[in-house]
Amino acid sequence: MQRQIHSLIKSKNEIIQDLKAQGKRIFHVLSFGGGTQSAWLLDQHIRGFIDYDLIVFADTGAEPQFIHEQVAWWKQRMRDQGCTTPFQIVTHNRFQGGLEEMLFRYIFTDYDRFQMVAHCDGGGMLPRQCTVDFKIVPAQRAARRMVMGKNSTFPNDVAIVMDIGFAADEQRRAKRNQSLQYSYVWLTYPMIDAGISTEDSMEYLRNNNFPIRRSRCYFCPFMSDKKPGMSWHEIIKDEPFSFLKACWIDEKLREVVRNGHKKLKKLPYFHVERQPLRDVYRDYYLSLYSQYYAQLNTWIENMKAIIKVSNQ
Ligand code: SF4
Repeated sequence: MQRQIHSLIKSKNEIIQDLKAQGKRIFHVLSFGGGTQSAWLLDQHIRGFIDYDLIVFADTGAEPQFIHEQVAWWKQRMRDQGCTTPFQIVTHNRFQGGLEEMLFRYIFTDYDRFQMVAHCDGGGMLPRQCTVDFKIVPAQRAARRMVMGKNSTFPNDVAIVMDIGFAADEQRRAKRNQSLQYSYVWLTYPMIDAGISTEDSMEYLRNNNFPIRRSRCYFCPFMSDKKPGMSWHEIIKDEPFSFLKACWIDEKLREVVRNGHKKLKKLPYFHVERQPLRDVYRDYYLSLYSQYYAQLNTWIENMKAIIKVSNQ
């Protein structure tokens, strides 16, 4: 696949050359998503083809268990191959409960920042703020902390170059090189540079008998039954209770917008068809609801306790 990225985005090589010309020492980081694309990058590192000083997995608090197992698998492969690069698992600095906590705060309190992508009725999508706030920024913070150590300021002669595993078929996701949060962090996209597509990375993993589950949150609106490895059916089958939680959150979000508690201009939907999740998969929903009803209520009460909201 050809690299056709727009001219504002530089290749990793160009960024490194620019930084070296400015006399910067470079701290190399991989933002590891636990799925397929960044796993390709991690394996290139394990095999000695890409240098990293740090691997970071930012836990959104909503990844399915199979992704946590996949992350553990990759940590084990690193150990088995004698790869000693530090591997950190980090979370959002304010919401230890991750995206679930943010959504509960949005639904039940006056917290008004909807940090979540969603399909809107009438067309379009809300911005992918969840990826920025719960994946990219926590990874940047971890790298920054590691470079700074006990120092209170970031050293002038260091730049962080962080690889993001956007594949060549996801070029539109690469919006910038220089981080908006930290001017000394540079985001680079080596899979786009090398023309490696999502399917290429999956084929590589398959050919090596590596795990090939695609990472995403259990309620990710980018899921579609038409996308290989990204279907709602996989969540329904492997994480039925998580699917039920997704249906509940999906309903609640429209409820708080409809009743005027939240001021989103359009109604949000998790499903691409802009239909309630529980209606799209009605039979599964009804069966799971009767099976997990008590567990769902316990989860809701526990989450409310975390954000300290009484019954309403
Ligand atoms: S997987 Fe989906 S819901 Fe989760 S952070 Fe990424 S875009 Fe947002």
